[in-house]
Amino acid sequence: MRILFVGPPGAGKGTQAARVAERLGIPHISTGDMFRDHVARGTELGMRVDSIMKAGEYVPDEITVEMLGERIAESDAADGFILDGFPRTVGQVEALDGLIGRHGLDTVVVFEVDEDALVERLLARGRVDDTEETIRTRFQVYQEQTAPLLEIYGPRGIVISIDGIGDMDEITERILSALDTYTTARRTHDGAPKERR
Ligand code: AMP
Repeated sequence: MRILFVGPPGAGKGTQAARVAERLGIPHISTGDMFRDHVARGTELGMRVDSIMKAGEYVPDEITVEMLGERIAESDAADGFILDGFPRTVGQVEALDGLIGRHGLDTVVVFEVDEDALVERLLARGRVDDTEETIRTRFQVYQEQTAPLLEIYGPRGIVISIDGIGDMDEITERILSALDTYTTARRTHDGAPKERR
């Protein structure tokens, strides 16, 4: 299965993407993690993106798309993957369509998190860069950036929403169960041969 995880910063999306990927036996591909790894290793790519990331800006598409394209071409991704943090822009959606085809993505899992609940949760975590204002700003930016992606994926009929508030284990099970229901429904809908009696 090729899955995309979408959710606001701080909602636990990355953690859940990693857990679900492990349970499904497919790689968790996070462009943010890949960039951080390059920076940590001091690669040429890492040196190019370091200052961009520090400024909180987006890495140019030509760099991001090439890195992602190489990653999903690796053999462990042949049976599927969970994308996390890519695509983030309409241009990147088009680039991904170019890489895996318009029907290449099986589903988009969207974390539904209430803004006030997220603020409450992150403030309770007590990190210095988490003030109510920065949390609300990040949430706003996320919504502005994500809305256009969902306008593309929504009409394709592949979006499923997950309640992102709750116990970590519970949410993992919620996602796995929603994916299971979705794939079963789709198999039936697609007219796959049914079992003969
Ligand atoms: P993340 O961990 O997903 O929040 O990503 C951390 C940083 O990596 C972002 O702030 C960007 O600078 C960069 N980055 C990650 N994914 C992308 C992407 N799809 N397009 C552009 N920049 C990205």
